[in-house]
Amino acid sequence: MSNDRGVPLPMPCRGFLRLASWIVPRRTRPDWHARWSAGLWNWWILVERGELTSGVSEQLAAQCRGALADAFWLRFNKAALRTWVRGPGFVVVATATILLLMAACTHGFAVTRGLIQIARDLHYARPQMMPPGAQEGALIAYGFPIVFALATGIVLVMIGRLSLRPYGWRYWSFLIFKTLSVMAIVPLLWIEGGASIRAHISNVQLRVFAGGLGLALVFVVAFGCALLWIFADQRRRCPVCLEQLAMPVTVGSWASVFDPVATELLCNQGHGALCLSETETGEADRWTAFGASWSSLFDTNESKRDNVLR
Ligand SMILES: [Zn+2]
Repeated sequence: MSNDRGVPLPMPCRGFLRLASWIVPRRTRPDWHARWSAGLWNWWILVERGELTSGVSEQLAAQCRGALADAFWLRFNKAALRTWVRGPGFVVVATATILLLMAACTHGFAVTRGLIQIARDLHYARPQMMPPGAQEGALIAYGFPIVFALATGIVLVMIGRLSLRPYGWRYWSFLIFKTLSVMAIVPLLWIEGGASIRAHISNVQLRVFAGGLGLALVFVVAFGCALLWIFADQRRRCPVCLEQLAMPVTVGSWASVFDPVATELLCNQGHGALCLSETETGEADRWTAFGASWSSLFDTNESKRDNVLR
């Protein structure tokens, strides 16, 4: 494959363009491939003539990035992708990806599996009267911060006055899924990541204080923050489609008792509007469901999904 002047495009470039073209929808693929091949050929002719003497690899990398981005956005509609990121599907995929990556990087959660094995051995095989040893100490060292983090998280959620609305099973299932995900990911990060960090600290005191106590403290704080984020995120989701509500508008006045400050948000799919109280008086959030006549004013999810999968 060469241009009119017989200058062949390097094989890796041709292979890359061919691979990237598979991302492009079939009906526009030939045009897309011809356009990017011509662009790369023109650039390669300049390189062959010696007219480009510096930054060749950077320019080639930029051309490849441009082709890949162009192919991606021809396949995936930006608005539909944004809608998907705001929806529950993104949280589920992100959680699964994080857990898979962690499993791959930690040999299948080796440290956690070791702790579980120790606990099982103690329960089934060891006499209960045996004095605590190193294995029991490891269980206590990991178990105490987890219990403390759980208690701290519950207290933070209660102090934060995170009111939840009485909605259907999808709303509550999603909240339970997010809570369980955080309860799995954050302790696993601490257990597996902490063991890996401590393995690289040679100083004993530093390993105990920074790698042990310091990381345990970071874990407790991170766990509490993650639980707070879960409830704050859930509070701002549509109870029908579970998508994050959009277009926040502040109404009311901080000085007014009868018209206190609140934030109003809309569901992008037209399911309703939510009024969140911003004052400390503890007013409940107010959800207003829209009727079917409102749906024509909003883009429907189905049409966006069609664009994604076209
Ligand atoms: Zn909605």
